[in-house]
Amino acid sequence: MKDNGFFGNIQLSRKVLAAITEMGFEEPSPIQSQTIPLVLAGHDVIGQAQTGTGKTAAFGIPIVERITDHRHIQALVLTPTRELAIQVAEEITKIGKFKKVKTLPIYGGQSIERQIRALRSGGVQVVIGTPGRLLDHIRRNTIKLGLVKTLVLDEADEMLDMGFIEDIESILQHLPAEDRQTLLFSATMPAPILRLADKYMRDAITVTISKEQLTVPLIDQYYYEARDKLEALCRVLDVEVNGTLIIFCRTKKGVDELVASLQARGYMADGLHGDLSQAQRDRVMKKFREGKLEILVATDVAARGLDIEHVTHVINYDIPQDPESYVHRIGRTGRAGKKGIAITFIEPREYRQLKLIERTIKTRIVRKQLPSPADVVE
Ligand code: ADP
Ligand code: MG
Repeated sequence: MKDNGFFGNIQLSRKVLAAITEMGFEEPSPIQSQTIPLVLAGHDVIGQAQTGTGKTAAFGIPIVERITDHRHIQALVLTPTRELAIQVAEEITKIGKFKKVKTLPIYGGQSIERQIRALRSGGVQVVIGTPGRLLDHIRRNTIKLGLVKTLVLDEADEMLDMGFIEDIESILQHLPAEDRQTLLFSATMPAPILRLADKYMRDAITVTISKEQLTVPLIDQYYYEARDKLEALCRVLDVEVNGTLIIFCRTKKGVDELVASLQARGYMADGLHGDLSQAQRDRVMKKFREGKLEILVATDVAARGLDIEHVTHVINYDIPQDPESYVHRIGRTGRAGKKGIAITFIEPREYRQLKLIERTIKTRIVRKQLPSPADVVE
């Protein structure tokens, strides 16, 4: 086998190696180097690693490697959100570029007729879907899962948070039980996930990448205390922030209001949240990915698992409810070894919440003084 950097140490075919080289992957991340050989060997694997550590390719690479030329669904990936389904499908398509692996994302909000046609036209080898829509197809008998060899539960903790466990269990009833390989990837492993794993996985091997290898140190983290957060945000945007950013708000209404305020002040901002139609969400994401939008304002749910290249700043306009969502949010920046900046705005009474986050992530979030109005470049 040709030596292709460190990925060459894992037994991969030439086509897959060529594809990941083209993607710019030079060496495997820790979760990848530890799980890929196990998955290739056919084991059930539980992979736990922080957001942004390359879990998609950890299952995507071995899945593509093991896809045969048969034109039926061989692998099924469940993801919590539509955006993530699209993103994972794109990544698997890239990994499978030279093997010409055919993927299909399936999610709510898109015409089911169109998905049915795509499924019927045949040839789809990997389906990536959200649980609700997938179940819909199963009930309508529009998807054939009898030959699925590998099932992936991706971002399992988020699927749990979103109330998908029952749907997942129903889906599992429709998959082959014999000879099925089950993979579960998650940033955290709460008890219900472990129970699910226990019930549906066989002799699963757990790979945990410890928090010390967390991506957080690559992210500069600081906060501002302000009574008027909008005023403070605008000042920071004008003086310090230069790049592509995601701003998190607690509620959908908060997102809409902030987008309106920012647009009124001339910023290129748009919002992403669950009340928007799929077409609107797609449009916003496309603009953002193409760099035609500087500021994406989103709720936690809308931004789950999104991997958007070149996000330089994550701004917590509203402080997250718990340390875990803080880690999830700031994980949108500093991806794959690039440095990112996370800025949190707090009102004076939220100081204790901030300290709790600091203690949990064992990282100091540095206080900064707001730039004075005089510093603002006109
Ligand atoms: P996770 O699912 O763990 O949150 P992702 O799978 O979304 O993380 O990966 C985060 C980013 O890192 C993606 O942009 C992905 O393309 C990139 N990436 C993954 N593996 C590698 C690698 N081995 N080398 C370089 N970049 C990688
Ligand atoms: Mg992921």
